[in-house]
Amino acid sequence: MQTIIEPFRIKMTEALPITTRKLRQARLASAKYNVFLLNAEDITIDLLTDSGTGAMSSRQWAALMIGDESYAGSISWQHFERTVREITGLKHIFPVHQGRAAERILAATRLKPGDLVPNNSHFDTTRANIEYVGAQAEDLLTEEGKDLYLDKPFKGNLDTAKLELLIKARGAKRIPFCMITVTNNTGGGQPVSMTNIAAAKKVLKKYGIPLVIDCCRFAENAYFIKEYEPGYSGKPLTQIAQEMFALADGAVMSAKKDGLANIGGFFACNNDAWAEDFRNLLILTEGFPTYGGLAGRDLEVIAVGLKEALEYDYQHYRHATVEYMASRLIGRGIPIVRPAGGHAVFLDAAGFCSHLPPEKYPGIGLVNALYLEGGVRAVELGSVMFGRVDAKTGKETPAPRELVRLAFPRRVYTQSHFEYVIEVLDDIWKHRERIPGYQITKQAPFLRHFTAHFAPGKDKTTKRGGKR
Ligand SMILES: *Cc1c(COP(=O)(O)O)cnc(C)c1O
Repeated sequence: MQTIIEPFRIKMTEALPITTRKLRQARLASAKYNVFLLNAEDITIDLLTDSGTGAMSSRQWAALMIGDESYAGSISWQHFERTVREITGLKHIFPVHQGRAAERILAATRLKPGDLVPNNSHFDTTRANIEYVGAQAEDLLTEEGKDLYLDKPFKGNLDTAKLELLIKARGAKRIPFCMITVTNNTGGGQPVSMTNIAAAKKVLKKYGIPLVIDCCRFAENAYFIKEYEPGYSGKPLTQIAQEMFALADGAVMSAKKDGLANIGGFFACNNDAWAEDFRNLLILTEGFPTYGGLAGRDLEVIAVGLKEALEYDYQHYRHATVEYMASRLIGRGIPIVRPAGGHAVFLDAAGFCSHLPPEKYPGIGLVNALYLEGGVRAVELGSVMFGRVDAKTGKETPAPRELVRLAFPRRVYTQSHFEYVIEVLDDIWKHRERIPGYQITKQAPFLRHFTAHFAPGKDKTTKRGGKR
């Protein structure tokens, strides 16, 4: 059979708002041309994020009903702990309300000002939590990983040669732990190979530095390893995940991704002293260590979700939908980052809107066109999110890339929804020279993308030729 089908059928439906262009025009203007400020009820297909937006299975809904809400030592906690231990093999396990709570406590208990934490690419909350305690977050992506269009399988890999140079330059004492993010969210959802994790571990072991895996998308990464890394095609995803965690001394997890849950996460580690410090701060700010800020029913749902994420048929279908969208867009000449990541397709807005220079925010132009034309919500990862504004002069340095991310919520949209998004994009692509540039009319001093106000530019003059 050629067609890879959704390995589920639908038991409950949720109506999608079907809106008119006129209404969307009005809504976008009231939202000051920032899709973060739209109401969800005005969005038809929401591809803003894959975090906490997934659909639960009937098994998860059933598990939710048997959640044990005992304050300490609940049955649901035991189920959760058993499942996380089976997959990770790690000794100490702590639930948290979401990934960044684990990051915050880990940073607060292990890092001092002047310390350094390497990673293939830090996720924004990971970086922020490290910097908040006065330490430094260092990205060590390979040169291959930095090339948007290079079609290679493991572009999330950490550069182990750079890692060793960094350890020698700064001294192992200033590096309390190293991280690897699988898949590499910031780097386009690109996977990391087992060979690379093992090579990084070998370097770290030599200098006595522990490895903490940011494992939000560990099951998607295991799928990539099975499909694309020699020697893994015959192994079940669970076994691949176990092999990966065997290389780790600790893990931070957001269950809003491969936990297939709407909230939750965990921290796990082998070191007894780390666990002791983590537990103490967890009790202070999150809750007793057997619930960590979650309800018993959440723990049940995550225990079931972690296993479902490791089912081959589920990952096979998920990857096929992302791949399908990517190949259709490439076929139309639409510029996207290659290869497609595990949880999203990234459009190259600079290539898409080649008539708009970075200071006219081509990513915002494309995001707003997607909403106006089809009620589709995406997110800009370009100069609005990552551009730097000089506090004194107000002068802006654009980001190195102008990307727009179409994230895929898990088990939520069907094939025809994706066909629709492809059609919407095709339409916009054919008339791309009509996409206006934008200017910022109001902005916050940091994380401005969430709340900024924009206005469309009046002139649609071609600044850079528009030849692509
Ligand atoms: C989402 C995410 C986090 C943070 O998790 P939250 O649940 O959103 O707090 C950390 N790292 C990566 C790679 C992520 O994708």
